Amino acid sequence: TKLIDFEGVSKTYQLGNQKVQALKGIDLTINSGDFMAIAGPSGSGKSTLLNLLALIDTPTNGQITYNDIDISTLSDNQKTMYRNKEIGIVFQNYNLIPVLDALENVAFALQVQGIPNHVCLSRAEKILKEVGLGTHLHHRPANLSGGQKQRVAIARALVTNPSVVIADEPTAALDSKTGMEILDLMKELNYTKHTTFIFSTHDNRIINSVQHVVQIEDGLLINQY
Ligand code: ADP
Ligand code: ADP
Repeated sequence: TKLIDFEGVSKTYQLGNQKVQALKGIDLTINSGDFMAIAGPSGSGKSTLLNLLALIDTPTNGQITYNDIDISTLSDNQKTMYRNKEIGIVFQNYNLIPVLDALENVAFALQVQGIPNHVCLSRAEKILKEVGLGTHLHHRPANLSGGQKQRVAIARALVTNPSVVIADEPTAALDSKTGMEILDLMKELNYTKHTTFIFSTHDNRIINSVQHVVQIEDGLLINQY
């Protein structure tokens, strides 16, 4: 079933007195359960597209619907609530809190929703075991490898049971082998939990091992398969 729909979506940034057209008339449909790579060179508009998908930013033109809800009809508060409930976000540089261990970093995503602490901790432990970090619950980010940090970040994105995980270049900070392991983990989670995954990459090895690819170049969707 259709989860997200972009119709003629454009995004223009105002940079001083110059305009930058980061996205130009993007039409894109994402179905529930999709595993999709957004591919394109640096500066092609991938981050802009993901920020729109994650409801972090709003389009200049066009329409975005989530579950047939036109996002532009929601207030900022409703958008934030929607984002917290439906969307998990993973960043290239993990964005973990250094003073918290792996378990606390993941539990934090639930604590901010006012869920009782023992529930937060048990759900965080369960998902960390699922991403292969059962033996590293009490390691702080500084004592984890890059791949392990990204596993924590993926666990944090998933612990709230979102319908979609959006990841901006999740493998770009990792060596090629570790990057492929993270890709395999995301594929496995997509398969077992049916969570929709949308992630950007400019790594050809990753692109070649994903079935569903959307290519953007210079703000245009140039190919999709
Ligand atoms: P990518 O993620 O593929 O590298 P981006 O979406 O970050 O591409 O950028 C697309 C274009 O929009 C680039 O020309 C970039 O410089 C520009 N851009 C991105 N964010 C901003 C911003 N906040 N203000 C002005 N220009 C921006
Ligand atoms: P990526 O690594 O995904 O390509 P960038 O390095 O292009 O990301 O951008 C990093 C951040 O800076 C993003 O939030 C983007 O929106 C912003 N940004 C990119 N280009 C510009 C720009 N020309 N002016 C202002 N902000 C920009």
